[in-house]
Amino acid sequence: MYTAVTIARSESHHVTSVDITIRCPACGQLFAPKRFGAGLSCSRCLKKMAPTVQLAQLLDHWWEPRRWRADLHRPNVNFLLEKLWTANGQGEALYKGISPKFANYSIFRNLVTRAIARGLDEGWMELEFPDDPLADDPVYKLNFKDSDRFAREMEGLFPEVDWDETIQVPSGAIIPSQLGKPSKPRGKRR
Ligand SMILES: [Zn+2]
Repeated sequence: MYTAVTIARSESHHVTSVDITIRCPACGQLFAPKRFGAGLSCSRCLKKMAPTVQLAQLLDHWWEPRRWRADLHRPNVNFLLEKLWTANGQGEALYKGISPKFANYSIFRNLVTRAIARGLDEGWMELEFPDDPLADDPVYKLNFKDSDRFAREMEGLFPEVDWDETIQVPSGAIIPSQLGKPSKPRGKRR
């Protein structure tokens, strides 16, 4: 039986319990990696496989036997990432903390999700893959590996915001509830 506890935090111990075949987008080789995540290379051409490419294929594998189920959405990379970083009201918390002037919450979610997806492939965000990605309820975890970089990305996305108030992005946590909350209310220049 699958339990989330079997997911090791260290990448070196993070080994999949099942054989899942994925295809290298560069050379077309099919292979079953021992583990998924950043640093995975094709067994033939040795090209690195971006985490979002791995995730897209795993989600397709997950969906395949469940595609007739009316109660499920077909997941894709952005759908899953958005679910992870907005969980437990943390998306709203970040939105309120940043308070962009020109983006409503829907646009905000979209922009941040795309930045996080890019961050995974560039290495400043980290996705922990489940022990068994084909389980009914696989547990993916998102880590803010480089919180400074994340904050800079947010500044780039929302240049109209008064960034004198540093946003708080604790590293290593899933999406901390404090994320994005300014330490003081705005308008300190009164
Ligand atoms: Zn290859």
